Amino acid sequence: MHTPEAAESIAKTILIVDDVPANLEVVSRHLENHGYHAVVAQSGQEGVERAERVRPNLILLDVLMPGIDGFETCRRLKANTSTRDIPVIFMTALTDAADKLTGFEVGAVDYVTKPLDGAEVLARIDTHLSLYALRRELERQNAQLRQEIAARKQTQEALQRSNTELEQLAYVASHDMQEPLRMVASYLQLVAQRYQGKLDADADEFIGFAVDGAKRMQALINDMLAYSRVGTKARPFAPTDCEATVDMAIFDLRVAIAESGARVTRGPLPVVMADGPQLAQLFRNLLGNAIKFRGTEPPQVHIDAEAADGGWCFAVRDNGIGIAPEYFDRIFVLFQRLHARREYAGTGIGLALCKKIVERHGGRIWVESSPSAGSVFRFTIPRRDEGS
Ligand code: ADP
Repeated sequence: MHTPEAAESIAKTILIVDDVPANLEVVSRHLENHGYHAVVAQSGQEGVERAERVRPNLILLDVLMPGIDGFETCRRLKANTSTRDIPVIFMTALTDAADKLTGFEVGAVDYVTKPLDGAEVLARIDTHLSLYALRRELERQNAQLRQEIAARKQTQEALQRSNTELEQLAYVASHDMQEPLRMVASYLQLVAQRYQGKLDADADEFIGFAVDGAKRMQALINDMLAYSRVGTKARPFAPTDCEATVDMAIFDLRVAIAESGARVTRGPLPVVMADGPQLAQLFRNLLGNAIKFRGTEPPQVHIDAEAADGGWCFAVRDNGIGIAPEYFDRIFVLFQRLHARREYAGTGIGLALCKKIVERHGGRIWVESSPSAGSVFRFTIPRRDEGS
């Protein structure tokens, strides 16, 4: 057997099947003269056998032959897996359109009429060999694409599995850490209350550090839990009144609002299909950040929404410290913060959580801002029918 490379460099083999020896002689000489390798068969039966043995690149097949005729020969060639892909061109004296159609029906790619025109035969052979080569190339590329898609799907599934596992691990770990940490924090607070000023100054300071550390750890664990809950504790989407949701977020943040002297307003907001608690968390985080990252002026925050193609685009605007454009993407990545803990408290999870919530709803979140000029956090929630 030839390798494909070797086959490229050698002459193409054409099998000619005709019961008239003189015809075989003329056609094969013509083909040989034009660089083809000709193989002949004098009957349909012999043609089928030779085709299977020689595996020619193309078959020129006479229609009217004693024994099995050209049509039947073609049927048999097409029924055999090892010869069915070889292009067949009929040589026919038949002028009847019905006969030509029969030829195509049994699997031929073309026909030439007798008496044969040498140039025409060569042109048609050439065309069909090129078409065949192109088809094979397409099939090869298709098979390769299919393989690549299957491999990608496998990788994706594996990735998804390991993501889910990681998410569950993060959830269980943070959940189980809550309890012992609560114990550490409350006993530390008890020590702080009971022994404040009774030990030396160093001890007071050390206890203060420990209490602060425990509180930060609690904040981190709570945020990690909230983050992993987006995937593990998701609720189905239901009609959610954004006005009530935002009002609730404002209520939840009333202490921070009062302490900072913030003015929080909102425009009319729609009802959307969403996971209510997640949407509340989203507004709480954005509103909380808008108040936290304030400048020298008291915070002014406005929340509104406008219809955008296929859904709603929400905006949370503030007059805070703003963000330089080079950080627009980074701030949505887990644990990415632009400030030291001493400047602004935080865990660096808030915006990553917002992104995860928005993406679970099929939307997108981004920021428009510049340093000292305030920020606008925008996110979209696509329109959805109930029950979808
Ligand atoms: P955290 O608030 O815990 O730092 P986030 O993920 O919520 O974490 O935010 C990431 C970073 O994005 C913040 O540290 C801050 O630098 C920046 N940022 C977020 N919201 C605002 C805002 N409204 N104005 C200015 N900077 C912001």
